[in-house]
Formats: sequence, C-alpha cells, structure tokens
Amino acid sequence: MQNILQHTAFNIVEVREDFPILKTLVNNKPLIYFDNGATAQKPKQVLDVIIKYYTEENSNIHRGVHTLSQKATIHYELAREIVKKHIKASSVNEIIFTRGTTESVNLVAHCFGKLFINKGDEIILSVMEHHSNILPWQILCEERGAVLKVIPINEKGELNLNEYKKLLSAKTKLVSVSHVSNTLGVINDMKEICALAKQKNIPVFIDGAQAIPHMAVDVQDLDCDFYCFSGHKVYAPTGIGVLYAKEKWIEIFKPYQVGGGTIKTVSFEKTEYADGPLKFEAGTPNIEGAIGLAAALNYINEIGLETISAYEHELTQYATQKLKQLTNVIIYGDVANKASVISFNVKGIHPFDVGTLLDKQGIAVRTGHHCTQPLMQYFNIPGTIRASFAFYNTKEEIDVFILGLEKAIKMLS
Ligand code: PMP
Repeated sequence: MQNILQHTAFNIVEVREDFPILKTLVNNKPLIYFDNGATAQKPKQVLDVIIKYYTEENSNIHRGVHTLSQKATIHYELAREIVKKHIKASSVNEIIFTRGTTESVNLVAHCFGKLFINKGDEIILSVMEHHSNILPWQILCEERGAVLKVIPINEKGELNLNEYKKLLSAKTKLVSVSHVSNTLGVINDMKEICALAKQKNIPVFIDGAQAIPHMAVDVQDLDCDFYCFSGHKVYAPTGIGVLYAKEKWIEIFKPYQVGGGTIKTVSFEKTEYADGPLKFEAGTPNIEGAIGLAAALNYINEIGLETISAYEHELTQYATQKLKQLTNVIIYGDVANKASVISFNVKGIHPFDVGTLLDKQGIAVRTGHHCTQPLMQYFNIPGTIRASFAFYNTKEEIDVFILGLEKAIKMLS
C-alpha cells in the first residue's frame, strides 16, 4: 500500500496538526472522524481569529463611530468580499449572510414565493434533495396552491436529465437542486440544469452545502440565480451561512425578516429599507461566524481546492474498493463523478447497529436517512451508513475503519 504521508501534494501531517480535535480519544481510541458531511472540524487558524475577535475587537457592527465597531465592521465586510471572491460572484451586493443553508432556502422560498408563486405554478426539485431543500418549497406550494415536481434518478443515483427536460414547462417558476447529494455524494451537472432552465427563462436555486467543501464553485459560470451553503461544513463555525443571489433578485425581493440593520429610515408612517444584502440581515448578525468563515475559506484556498478535490477523490476510490471487497456490502451512488461521500448498507444488518459498534472503536460515521427520506423511499431502505471524508483524513484511517467494520459485521451476523 502506498503511504499517504509520502505522496500528497500537501503536507498531511502539518494539515492534521491544524485540527486540534483530531488528537482526541473517543472510547479510548484515536478519533477517526468520517462524519464531515454533517459538519467539518475547525482548524486552529479559524479558532484563532475567533478568539482574537473576542479578545481584541468585540463590538457591534455598522452603526458605531468608535474604533472597535469600525474594526469589527471592516472585518465583517471583508468576509463578504472573501466569500464573493471564493464563489466568483460579480459583486459583494450579491452575498447575504444567513444562519446556513436551511435559512438561505427559507429566505428565497419566502421572498420569491411572495412575489411569483401562484395557484397552479410548479417548482422543480429532485428526489435526492435534503429536507431543507424540500420543506420550504412544500409549505410555499401548500400555501399558494402550487405543485412540486420531482426529477427522478436512475438506480446509480444520477439525475435523469431527460425527465428533467420534460418537466420544464410554462408552468415552471423555479428549479431548486443540490449541487452534490449529501447522501450519495453524486455531483449533479448544474451547468446543464441551469442552461436548460435558462432556455425557458426559469430561475435556478442551487443548494451547495455539500459542494463548497469539496470543489471550486463559480456562480457566474454556472449561471445560477441563487447558490447557498453553510459555514460549518466548510471548516467554519456553525450559525453562519451564505446566500448568493443575482443582484436583480436582491433589488426586487422585499425583506425576509425585518429589524435593526435592514433600514434606511423608519417612522411610524413609513419605512425605507436598505439596499443590497443588508436588507436581509436583520438584527445583530453572527459577526464572529462571518470572520471565521473568511478564515476557513482562506485556509482551504491556501491548500487549493483542486488539490483537495483530487486527494479526497483518491480517498473515496480507495475506500470504495475496500468496501467492495467485503461480502454483503451494498453501495448507493457508486458513480465516478462524486464528492467524498460513501453511503452503504450491510445486508441483513441495521445501519444504527453498525454505527454504534464503529463508535465504540472511535470511528464516527453517520447512520440514518440523512434528512433525505424521499431518497430512502426510492431505494426502499430505512437508512444507510455514511462515511464522508475531508482532506485531513487518510488511507490509514480508512484501513482502520474497514477492519472495524469487519469486526462489527462479524459481531452482528
Ligand atoms: N442541504 C444539504 C445538501 C445538506 O447536506 C445540508 C446539511 N446536512 C443542508 C442542506 C442543511 O444545512 P444546514 O443544517 O447547515 O442548514
């Protein structure tokens, strides 16, 4: 076996040193963290800027004339600039800070829905969507008498784009699809999905929660109308996320929540709202979250997303090959074009039991429906075991995981 420590384009030993939690013992065993799809660990570069912010700069933003407030404002707005550059948006005015992917979807469903969704209209999703990219649209459709249409997948877990083409019609008001499936890891051809929708002038919303940690994203190249992600999956804190929206939508949408920070002038007779993203950032925002997110994006950009993608792909292929050597293992979404997520089951064994026995060996995987119950219904299973890798994981950890899995299977058979 090739030793991963010798070959990577980045220094994995140094990288692992950046993540203090990786030294933790779980059940007296060295932690092997394969639950990155749920949330990723934070490097000390991110932890350090948060401590620095609270020890040296803590202050509220935007309306203070004093030095600390101005410093905090500069760093918060610099974070917006870093996000803009990271996803190649054309302007900082297109970057709204939210609590995460879930809030970003809710924001657009609310604002877009109020203006454009009426009885009989249709919204297209796919069968592999996370509940967060289903429920806001479902409620909207219920309220407005609109209809959800669902792009099917094939047995490998790939979207059926021919069926998608057939679903696009004059009734379609919006398409909302995940860039990468959190359960299968399958990467969807969002460029094609956007291009097909554009032919009929239909806006596209992309749930990028599982794409942003693993690949370079260019929202202008995708030509999507909306793109969102969560900070915590990309090595930043929880409670911060991003909604990218083309400026035309920012201009025409009415505020989603209102309060301090969203206005130009207020009187009891009339309120004039702020221009740009501030219109959607009501109340004191997650300042340290935004600053932490900027530090996280800087961190991964220093390693390079191409390097990260290539290394994670290698880990995924290695683990997939090892899993395939075990009898009774079924892998879902076994395609070449995927991010570092592997969902599988062991015939005759409940995923929870496997997950529990792996935990006893210090190995963290996720088990269950992964907030994708419609996808579980498609495969006719209650759930899967999901191993999701980050660039700080190693082939050695995969070897330990495979041994642990074999042990668990033996005990449960
Ligand atoms: N969409 C996808 C594809 C996800 O993986 C997740 C998180 N599992 C979400 C949406 C929701 O993200 P959050 O809980 O950070 O809002």
